[in-house]
Amino acid sequence: MGEPNEWRARFDGAKHSVVYIQFAPLPGMANEIQRLADRVRSIEDEQERRLAVRSPSTCVGFVHSSTNGDDDDAAACHLNVMTTAHALKHVYSWADPLTIEKARLFRASVVCYHREEARRLSRLPEESRRYVEAKITASSWAHDILLLTVGVEALRSFHAEVCPGPHPHPALPVAPKMPRKAMRCMLLTWPEVDGPPRDAMGWTSCSRGVEMMSTNHLGYRMILVEVDVDSVAGMSGAPLVDADGMVIGMLHGGFGGTHSYFVACPHLYQWARQNRTRTRIVRRIGVASSWATFKAG
Ligand SMILES: [Zn+2]
Repeated sequence: MGEPNEWRARFDGAKHSVVYIQFAPLPGMANEIQRLADRVRSIEDEQERRLAVRSPSTCVGFVHSSTNGDDDDAAACHLNVMTTAHALKHVYSWADPLTIEKARLFRASVVCYHREEARRLSRLPEESRRYVEAKITASSWAHDILLLTVGVEALRSFHAEVCPGPHPHPALPVAPKMPRKAMRCMLLTWPEVDGPPRDAMGWTSCSRGVEMMSTNHLGYRMILVEVDVDSVAGMSGAPLVDADGMVIGMLHGGFGGTHSYFVACPHLYQWARQNRTRTRIVRRIGVASSWATFKAG
């Protein structure tokens, strides 16, 4: 693996598992979010803070597992999606962490590649785009991770042929161990919702603890993988895959340059495992809400 055609095939297979995510204040909650942001002050500038509160934030996520991935019953299938927590950075800091109460002030919603492609092929205007509500199930803000679940049937509802086949959003497996240095890799991203998902090729560089790299006022405690690859703002949460299609990192920062920073895969692997197990337990014992699975820190 490693030839251009093989990477192209890898991208064509994996783009089905990338989602575009939007976080917006729940109706009537903007004032409460503003009060929180003013208390936390993770964004120091008052105007910037006000803008962050009033405008929806967007990022990218990827399917890391599904609850009914082993059978063909798409109606019962829920996707477990991983993205970055810092889309909500205006409401937490290391001293005032992200909690379930804070996350509940936002509506998380997603579109998948198929849903957006169907809208474009039908030449429907952008205003007809319908995001599907996702549930925030867990967060590890110290690792900049947020986990969501979304129903496959809800994604299909836009159009009968949307999300084709029994497994339209296959899980991207997460590598348990740190990637090697100087390894060819591919960033799978979706920078603008009205354009298609894209890839960018890169090389892994070094890895180091986040505390060695910045002021870290959000209180991250994680290893970052540095990669020579282009990224821009709005791509946060995009998966980085190796030649075997394993996720080796999730885009965290470095936007606007050719050197980018990724949450290292062992952090992602641990949370993907815990989330999958919890979701299954919640389903088995018939608890309607998976809010009980929420963990911060
Ligand atoms: Zn889909």
